[in-house]
Amino acid sequence: GAVRDGVEGFVVRIVLVRGDITAQAADAVVNAANSSLLGGGGVDGAIHRKGGPEILAACRELRRSHYGKGLATGRAVATTAGRLPARHVIHTVGPVWSADEDRSGLLASCYRESLRVADELGDRTVAFPAVSTGVYGWPLDDGARIAVRAVREAEAAGTAVEEVRFVLFDTTAYASFAAAVAEDA
Ligand code: ADP
Repeated sequence: GAVRDGVEGFVVRIVLVRGDITAQAADAVVNAANSSLLGGGGVDGAIHRKGGPEILAACRELRRSHYGKGLATGRAVATTAGRLPARHVIHTVGPVWSADEDRSGLLASCYRESLRVADELGDRTVAFPAVSTGVYGWPLDDGARIAVRAVREAEAAGTAVEEVRFVLFDTTAYASFAAAVAEDA
C-alpha cells in the first residue's frame, strides 16, 4: 500500500466533478436525504425523479422495518439505485446549519457513515454531493473542508473505498472543494 502521513494503507482517490449526482456511474451515489427518507427537494428530489419509484418503495420499507421515527442526523442507510447508473443509493441525513451550535461532528458523521455503509456493500467508488450545503444552509467552504477531512479519516481507518467523487452542481461549490483538496495536499 501507499504511505500517507506515515500510515501505510490504501490511498482514497478524491475526484472532483462538476455535474449532476444522478448521472454518476459509481458503485454508490449518496443522497442528501431528510430524516423521513420519503423524498424532498435538491439532490433528494433529483434522485427519486431519475431513479424511479423503486427507491421510494425501498425507503418506505426501511421506515417500516427499522426507522419508524426516521433516520437520525449523521446516519446513513443504503437502498437500490433503481434506474440510476449506480448500484446503490446511500441516504444520509445532514445537519441543518446553525450559527449557535457546532454541528460539524454530525456533518463529518454523514461522510464517515456513508463510507462505512459502502464498505459493508463492497462498493469501491462512491459519489457524494456537498451534503447540507443546499436547503440546509451549511457554508460551502466549511462543508467542503469537513468532507475532505472525513474522507481522509476513513482512509486512515482503512476503508476499502478506492474513489470518492465529489459531484458539485455549480462553479462555487466546485471552487470550495478544490480549495479544500489543495489545503489537504
Ligand atoms: P441539503 O438539504 O443537505 O442542504 P440539497 O440537496 O438542498 O441538500 O443540496 C446539497 C448540495 O447539492 C447543494 O450544494 C446543491 O447545490 C447541490 N445539488 C442540488 N442538486 C444537485 C444534483 N442533482 N447533483 C449534484 N448536486 C446537487
